[in-house]
Amino acid sequence: MSTVCLRPGKERAIAAGRRWAYRTELLPTDAAPGSVADLVDSRGAFIARGFYNPRSELAFRVVTEDPDEPVDADLVRRRIAAAWAYRRRAADDPRYCRAFFSEADGLPGLVADRLGEVVALQISALGLQRWQPLIVETLVDLIRPAAVYERGEGSARRREGLPEASGVRWGALPEPLVVREGGLTLRIDVAAGQKTGHYLDQRGNRLRLRQLARGGEVLDAFCNTGGFGLQALAAGCARATFLDISPAGVAAALANAEVNGFASRADGCVANAFDQLRAYEHDGRRFDCVILDPPAFARGRASLDAAFRGYKEINLRAMRLLRPGGLLVTSSCSQPVTDDMFLRMLADAAADARCRMRVVERRGAGPDHPGLLGAEQTLYLKCIFLERL
Ligand code: SAH
Repeated sequence: MSTVCLRPGKERAIAAGRRWAYRTELLPTDAAPGSVADLVDSRGAFIARGFYNPRSELAFRVVTEDPDEPVDADLVRRRIAAAWAYRRRAADDPRYCRAFFSEADGLPGLVADRLGEVVALQISALGLQRWQPLIVETLVDLIRPAAVYERGEGSARRREGLPEASGVRWGALPEPLVVREGGLTLRIDVAAGQKTGHYLDQRGNRLRLRQLARGGEVLDAFCNTGGFGLQALAAGCARATFLDISPAGVAAALANAEVNGFASRADGCVANAFDQLRAYEHDGRRFDCVILDPPAFARGRASLDAAFRGYKEINLRAMRLLRPGGLLVTSSCSQPVTDDMFLRMLADAAADARCRMRVVERRGAGPDHPGLLGAEQTLYLKCIFLERL
């Protein structure tokens, strides 16, 4: 077993629960990239066992803190089985849930989403790559899907030095692939859609909108496949406009409106939301419900200021577009933006917009996306429902 040694004075963060060590915190070592290694302190005492990859900024990722626990195929199988047992207990519907969530389920770099008949898989830790066949086999044994599809792309893989490798790893993809949400049918695309094809983290919030929407006109901004706006239409809202910068997103949302019998109450708009919100305001267009679900504006702490301005801009515009009594459903999936920062931004936006807003409900992702203390990036999603007074 190779060892990787922390520089003196760098032990505290991991003792406090952080699940990785930065490259800059490690002494030079001859451990091989992608190997399982023991992390030791500067006196040689065991701290944790995990994956070593000097190409990544997160050069050591903790898998176990038990010195007697080997990191092997059996551990990988046990962790996946435990994660699935938890979903069967805790998920609001285990047919549509995140089946495995990285550090929060004890394997850094592994994400698996169950989307009905399909499991969509993402591996973004070099050390985990060698167990890919075992991971697929274990998911098949536990979940019995029609197909396992690997989305082997994206910045997390590039940072680890992993090549792009996407494709069906087991079975055959059903065509079309649908997910069911609160009685609605959504067609999704695990191969070409965003992330794993469907944002399961917002599922509970979309269903909550179904309960809280009170009619009128809806703007689903950053709509992707349209899940929020469709729930609003199912709740009886008169009309929904699906806005996204991606033509494929708007087309998917409109197709989903059609599938659910809402075509006559849906329209689409392909535009940059920053411009379009301003244009609506200028044109005097108003709504009874606005949904804002943008991509992460902040990736790291360095981009926090710019992200704050971006969030404030769209939220301020959205507040102004609301009729009195209207509902704003606003989200941030930026990991470095905390609940408190997000609320403070909203208060700033409301003050500048001269809108009186009250918080109806503060939410996050559902229990299928548990958040690990010490690895707060697993607690990334904020979703707040507000009402304009
Ligand atoms: N609400 C969606 C998920 C949204 S993901 C759901 O529930 O499924 C974020 C979306 O924002 C993506 O579809 C992306 O295409 C879109 N997007 C990114 N930048 C944008 C911009 N500047 N204006 C409008 N849409 C944008």
